[in-house]
Amino acid sequence: MSDSQRLGEFDLIRRFFVRDTPAGTARRDGYGGDDPAAGIALGQGDDCALLEPTPGWQLAVSVDTSLADVHFPAGAPAEAIGHRALAVNLSDLAAMGARPRWYVLALTLPDIDPEWLTGFARGLHALADRSGIRLVGGDVTRGPLSITITVHGEVPRQRALRRDGAGVDELIAVTGPLGGAHGGLQAWQAGARDPADPLLVDFLWPEPALAAGEALRDLATSAIDISDGLVADLAHVCRASGVGARLEVERLPLAAGLGERLGEAQAQQAALTGGDDYVLLCTLPESVRDRAQARLAEVGSHLAIIGRTVGEPGIHGVPPGRVGWQHFDVEVDDHPETGAAP
Ligand code: ADP
Ligand code: MG
Repeated sequence: MSDSQRLGEFDLIRRFFVRDTPAGTARRDGYGGDDPAAGIALGQGDDCALLEPTPGWQLAVSVDTSLADVHFPAGAPAEAIGHRALAVNLSDLAAMGARPRWYVLALTLPDIDPEWLTGFARGLHALADRSGIRLVGGDVTRGPLSITITVHGEVPRQRALRRDGAGVDELIAVTGPLGGAHGGLQAWQAGARDPADPLLVDFLWPEPALAAGEALRDLATSAIDISDGLVADLAHVCRASGVGARLEVERLPLAAGLGERLGEAQAQQAALTGGDDYVLLCTLPESVRDRAQARLAEVGSHLAIIGRTVGEPGIHGVPPGRVGWQHFDVEVDDHPETGAAP
């Protein structure tokens, strides 16, 4: 950028993205990170941040880009856009059982709009503070609105939750209600703007299941966060683990208000295939179910048991026609994305 634009860029970074107050607000789900400033030998301002990972822990690193009108509506509240861009990244840490530590933010803005940036930064920093993650660097460029965040978390060596650990005849469970984000997107597109609408909240303000992820460490045999939809993400676990799954669709926990808005059949479909719910899907042996429930209860969460793993590949038990696909009793390898026939 030119000198005058660079000045603008530095002012912008200083005003909105440099923070020296590590706040310790507790999260809704009971998650509370450690001292957020810990491990930062050098933060923003130099060419790189210098970080000190905890001895005996592994770094968990993930990046996600959020594009206007692809991943979120450009007209959504700026605060929600900031929250959501970080939330979808934190959800990947949650799915590994990792604890959030540091993140970097690459922001592309169509223009410098202080009011929009104030809202965006408020949503971003509020979630970061109560998740115990610190912004340690980034980049600002001009162009169509795009937010790329790379998160760094930590997990004790060899204890991360992975997709490839599920065994046969284990329970399949989710940590929260399904279909809400899909219902919220539909509601938004139909013109709903009430910030208290529970489906809009599910869609615009997803809450990463960080506390649940850590609580499931050493108990769950596999985990994934539901970003693509239950069936698609379950298929990822099945393929990685070499198992199949039998779902009990009548046990799927539906998001509040979903049945009322979409009707029963569409609500179940949304729960099966709607994306962006960011709850965790996990497998666990029956023998640890009570311990898992007790640990989750401590952090205000709960496992809904929705099926079992089976030896036969494929996702079974979904009524034909329920999700607009012909049938589900297929080899997952035939359809790598969903495990379902198109
Ligand atoms: P460089 O010339 O090395 O790319 P920049 O001029 O882009 O550095 O950034 C200067 C400093 O400000 C760096 O430490 C960088 O990490 C930080 N920074 C830039 N953009 C952001 C942002 N959006 N959020 C947080 N920190 C940022
Ligand atoms: Mg730069």
